[in-house]
Amino acid sequence: MQQLRQHLQRINQKSYKAYKDIANTYTFPEFQLAIDYVQGDPFAAPSKIRLIFSKEQLGIESSWFETKRRKIYVEDVMNRSVNRAIKQSKIAVRGSGKSGKVEIDAPDQVILERAAVQLTPNQGTICLSIGLPANGRRINGKEAEKLFFDALTKIAKQSVLSLDKKKVIEAIHLADQHDALRQKMHEEGWIAFVANGSILPRKSGVSTKPMNNAIPFQSPTENEVSVQLPHRSKPIKGMAIKKGITLIVGGGFHGKSTLLQALEEGVYEHIAGDGREFVLTDPTATKIRAEDGRSITGVDISPFINDLPNGSSTANFSTENASGSTSQAANVVEALETGANTLLIDEDTTATNFMIRDQRMQQLVAKEKEPITPFVHRVKSLFDEKGISTILVMGGSGDYFQVADEVIMMDQYYPKNVTNKAKDIAGEPLGSAKPLEFQQNRVPNLGGLQSMLGHKPKVQAKGKDTILFGKNPIDLSLVEQIVDVSQTRMIANVLKYMALKKTNEQKSISEWLDWIEHQIDEKGLSFTQKNTNEHPGELARPRRMELASALNRLRELTM
Ligand code: ADP
Ligand code: MG
Repeated sequence: MQQLRQHLQRINQKSYKAYKDIANTYTFPEFQLAIDYVQGDPFAAPSKIRLIFSKEQLGIESSWFETKRRKIYVEDVMNRSVNRAIKQSKIAVRGSGKSGKVEIDAPDQVILERAAVQLTPNQGTICLSIGLPANGRRINGKEAEKLFFDALTKIAKQSVLSLDKKKVIEAIHLADQHDALRQKMHEEGWIAFVANGSILPRKSGVSTKPMNNAIPFQSPTENEVSVQLPHRSKPIKGMAIKKGITLIVGGGFHGKSTLLQALEEGVYEHIAGDGREFVLTDPTATKIRAEDGRSITGVDISPFINDLPNGSSTANFSTENASGSTSQAANVVEALETGANTLLIDEDTTATNFMIRDQRMQQLVAKEKEPITPFVHRVKSLFDEKGISTILVMGGSGDYFQVADEVIMMDQYYPKNVTNKAKDIAGEPLGSAKPLEFQQNRVPNLGGLQSMLGHKPKVQAKGKDTILFGKNPIDLSLVEQIVDVSQTRMIANVLKYMALKKTNEQKSISEWLDWIEHQIDEKGLSFTQKNTNEHPGELARPRRMELASALNRLRELTM
């Protein structure tokens, strides 16, 4: 520690480059400080440091590690506490550029496995970014001393070193409840659960916080279930959606899309107070939408689109610029390739010709002249033959009444079960389509990816919605179940790792996803890094579906 202080005094007023020498490990009374990466100038990406605490310093308890979920939730509580302490820290460290800035990769409403806080039974690590202080481009050693010796210590003392034990216990209880509810859903074959009292709408289109004065969710009696959860005396009640085909209907503005969005996010778990903390969905559930303009590489979309007028095959379909219907077809087949067991669809973001073709149109345009087999003709065989459930919002057409197992009507934000009524007016059953057969084991050509990256391979996230693969952007703006920019960064790291991995192995996409998930489980989010002990950067765990989504949208991909 004194060594660092002397060092800072020695390099005071020198050129910024002299900071490079402070990369080292130092012992403070409250923690070990590891300076892993020193920025090149005060305006560049900030420096990376870790604060490492002993078991005793943090009061680590073995009960935190009883389940993986408990550990992640305690890490989440610590992360939020550090973030709060940073915001409240009154110690102003000044200078040019990012001088004095302290940041942790903090979570929003969702609780994700995240690299910023790492607990083991023996120690805890907090990863931070800091801006090393300068005046212009000269080192300001005085301010740097303030940053290291006052600010960091104060932040640690006001967060993880004085952690509210009640908050930790609450988080552990929530973890256990989420595990129990997910377990129950699995046993009962429920693909979604929405607790009574949940607040589904958000404050605004740009806020993830719950809307004030919203109408709380209340299950229809027909769908209401009651689940006994640990750490609470009364069972929790709410709406269960069973495997099969569920249709959500209702007039415009009655809350259909809001419900579906909550289900989309229900593949993740939310913090207490979010309003959706007991809204859970099959963790493999995948949003399917039209995505005009995306690229497609070698996908068998023939179950949905066949016999194109120009005679080109759709069993191995590639395009630089997909239409609404072909993009939606590819999104379905790719989702199944990753192991999705539930599809989530909202009429607001679909291609109509992919979803339905009504009686009159069928009379006018013969089946042989129409390359598209609409989803309504496939949704039942998807379930009957492949066990794939669908939850579908459709207010504008009754074509799905015949195939739906359940019909839920949103009526002024209250769901009603109208299955029987819908069945009464459903009309003739649909003629059955040919059995579902399609290829879904594409093998990506990794060698091709490597040559794209060139000499200085760089793959990086530019915000949540874009990854730059070398110079080529991957557009993820319509991949709606990426909820955190740190997930995008992790996806970028994985793509780079895959591209540079020297391998002759021919792995299918799903084999690759298995392998990646295994690596993360075994080695953590930093598995792509040379030195897995160093600051891993700002990373959170994506699902395999979103990893595949990025690969599938890489325009230069070949199979
Ligand atoms: P739909 O898809 O049926 O047209 P939306 O889900 O888009 O309807 O909801 C319409 C509006 O109602 C949105 O602005 C949404 O924020 C609001 N809203 C949704 N659910 C609730 C609720 N439970 N309480 C209050 N407002 C809600
Ligand atoms: Mg809508």
